[in-house]
Amino acid sequence: MKNSLNIVWFKKDLRLQDHKALHAACNSGGKVLLLYVHESAMWKHEGSSKRHENFAKESVSDLSMQLFLKNKKLTVLQGHIIEVLNHLKSKFGSFKLWSHEETGNLWSYQRDMDVLKWAKSCGIEWHEVPSNGVFRGLKTRDGWADLWKERMAMPLLPVPDLSNIVALDSNFSLETTLNKNVQRGGRQQALAVLDDFLSVRGKKYRGGISSPNIATTACSRLSPYLAWGCLSMREVVNRLENRVEELKLLTPKERKGWLGSLRDFKSRLFWHCHFIQKLEIIPDIEAKNIHSAYDGLRENNFNSEHYQRWCEGQTGFPFIDACMRYLNRHGWINFRMRAMLVSFATNNLWLHWKPVALHLGRQFTDYEPGIHYSQIQMQAGTTGINAPRIYNPVKQGVDQDPDGLFIRCHVPELKKCKDSQIHTPWETAELANYSDDYPRPIIDHLETYKTARKKLGGVRKKNGFKEEADSIRELIASRKRNK
Ligand SMILES: Cc1cc2nc3c(=O)[nH]c(=O)nc-3n(C[C@H](O)[C@H](O)[C@H](O)COP(=O)(O)OP(=O)(O)OC[C@H]3O[C@@H](n4cnc5c(N)ncnc54)[C@H](O)[C@@H]3O)c2cc1C
Repeated sequence: MKNSLNIVWFKKDLRLQDHKALHAACNSGGKVLLLYVHESAMWKHEGSSKRHENFAKESVSDLSMQLFLKNKKLTVLQGHIIEVLNHLKSKFGSFKLWSHEETGNLWSYQRDMDVLKWAKSCGIEWHEVPSNGVFRGLKTRDGWADLWKERMAMPLLPVPDLSNIVALDSNFSLETTLNKNVQRGGRQQALAVLDDFLSVRGKKYRGGISSPNIATTACSRLSPYLAWGCLSMREVVNRLENRVEELKLLTPKERKGWLGSLRDFKSRLFWHCHFIQKLEIIPDIEAKNIHSAYDGLRENNFNSEHYQRWCEGQTGFPFIDACMRYLNRHGWINFRMRAMLVSFATNNLWLHWKPVALHLGRQFTDYEPGIHYSQIQMQAGTTGINAPRIYNPVKQGVDQDPDGLFIRCHVPELKKCKDSQIHTPWETAELANYSDDYPRPIIDHLETYKTARKKLGGVRKKNGFKEEADSIRELIASRKRNK
């Protein structure tokens, strides 16, 4: 085994710490080549964006720098993965390929199938090891929560002995253009965000995550680092548990607000894997309604002008537009506002969730297909196992941005509106305060709410609806809620 080559294929696991594939490869004997492939087809895919690409490049750069500090090198190659692997095979002969299991979109699913076929055809062993709290091959969700806890409790893997690393010259530049409005990629940034959250910001998590005015700092902001694997889920859970033990040593006054907040935060970490597990079990969630009774419901109603206005934050609903413009600029918005944006698009505008998902996914720096598509379908009401929830965009504004601070900041056309007008400027008689640059509402939100409720409710009465919903529940629903 001494002279055999192991190739570690870094995908969305851009770190050296708690990296099971790297660990296994380095401990298996033989040389190890650390490979990142910039796959042009992936970045051209309609679900990708420049924002994702930049974040990935920054994270790969950071990984490369960590290796450089250890006198080691990451091999960064551009091209089609099969061509790259063939090139490596012709150069080195046979090797073992190591990577984490990826639960991604249909494009990466097909790419991995192609790699598997290729590996089998040329006798290459491909070892895919489990990632985070997602389990491959499960046919039911029974017992999943216990599996997650067990996996999270396993000891973290240190950076392995890297003395056997070999490398090739890279043929791809990791240069990016700096965008100060969005989160930057890389392990160093990830650790700084995690430290800051666990030592300072996390105290405000409970009660602070619903309003976009506060959520920017009250939420952990770890999502892109988890999505691109700059941190492993176990690392975050481990750091969180250590912090809880530390807090327990403080007086109740000193730790006020912390324990409840960190408990809520931990449940979100659990959800992260819970949602990705759904995609692991149903790989085509991005392509079809989870419950087939919703097929045909919105397919023939696409209004491209409404879609465009929603994408650009020009719907005439101040809070919707403020949230969308903020997201388009910063690559992130909090959970509740994501849900509201989807609910507005799919229920009030009655747009199909697929283009809605594409726009949002491209804007989110933290785009994670398993969470994204499951959430999109939940908000669009097509899972069959979640009660449809339609947000009132005016009420959300009044509740989450009562003084209109967020709206005034991101919809400057409404800067001069009085507080009493800011959420429904169209109702005011004094149109002088309502800039002509800002559109009137493109739909009647109360009428469209009623129509959507009726249509969605009608589907639930179809023959066979319940039976299909029961089998979906068996496959992907949280057992906690069912109890
Ligand atoms: C329509 C829609 C689409 C979404 N798409 C994505 C996506 O592509 N990628 C993504 O990471 N999250 C997505 N979410 C979930 C959630 O909004 C984000 O994870 C969260 O806003 C990220 O900010 P944070 O890291 O500060 O979260 P925190 O509240 O600090 O949570 C910590 C971590 O827990 C996980 N998490 C939090 N909320 C959820 C949730 N509801 N479901 C599953 N995991 C959760 C994330 O990994 C997050 O980083 C989506 C939600 C909705 C409603």
